[in-house]
Amino acid sequence: MRFGFDIDDTLIDLRGYAFQLYNKKLNQNVGLEVFQAMKTLQIHEAFGLDAKAGGELWSSLMDEIYYSDCAAFDGALDMLQELDREGHDIFYITARKPEHCERTRKWLKDHGFPVRDEHFYCGMKDEEKIETILHLQLDYYFDDKPAVLETLLGVPTKVYAYDNSYNQEVKIPRLKHWEELKDLIK
Ligand SMILES: [Mg+2]
Repeated sequence: MRFGFDIDDTLIDLRGYAFQLYNKKLNQNVGLEVFQAMKTLQIHEAFGLDAKAGGELWSSLMDEIYYSDCAAFDGALDMLQELDREGHDIFYITARKPEHCERTRKWLKDHGFPVRDEHFYCGMKDEEKIETILHLQLDYYFDDKPAVLETLLGVPTKVYAYDNSYNQEVKIPRLKHWEELKDLIK
C-alpha cells in the first residue's frame, strides 16, 4: 500500500520540542499542562507573545528547532520501519519551506526514517498538499494541521488526523498512537 505522512507534529514532536526551547530561551517555566491544553498550533500565546513577536521568535530559532534532536512520537519510527520492511511505499509530504527541503530530508535519514529520495515532497503550501496526495494516489495519509485536513475531507485517500488538542474541531478519523496503525490497515 501507499502511505503518506506529514512530518512536523505528525511523526515528530516539533511543537513540544519548540515549547521547551521557548521556555529555555525566554527563561520561563510554562508547564506541560498549558501546552497540552492549547487550542492553537502556534505556541507563542503560552509565553505571552503576540503573533508578530511569536513569528519572529520562531523564525530566529527555526534552524535549532528543525535540525536538533526533536523526538519522534512514540512508535512512529518503529511503525515506519516496519511498513518499509513489509514493502509498502512511504511518502513524506511536508510544507516546510523550499530552502529547508534538502536538510529536512537528510535529517529524517540521519534519524532513522526510511526515506527514498523520490518519495520526499516538500515546499508546497498547506492547501497545495492535496495535489500531491491525489497525484500519488495514496491509500492513507496522516496530518495534524486543521488547515490541511480540511482540504482533504472529500478525497479517495483514507485521511487521518494525528490527534492533538488543536485539531479536535476537524471531523475526521483520528490516530492517537502510532501503534494503532496496524489495526487500522488490517
Ligand atoms: Mg504538521
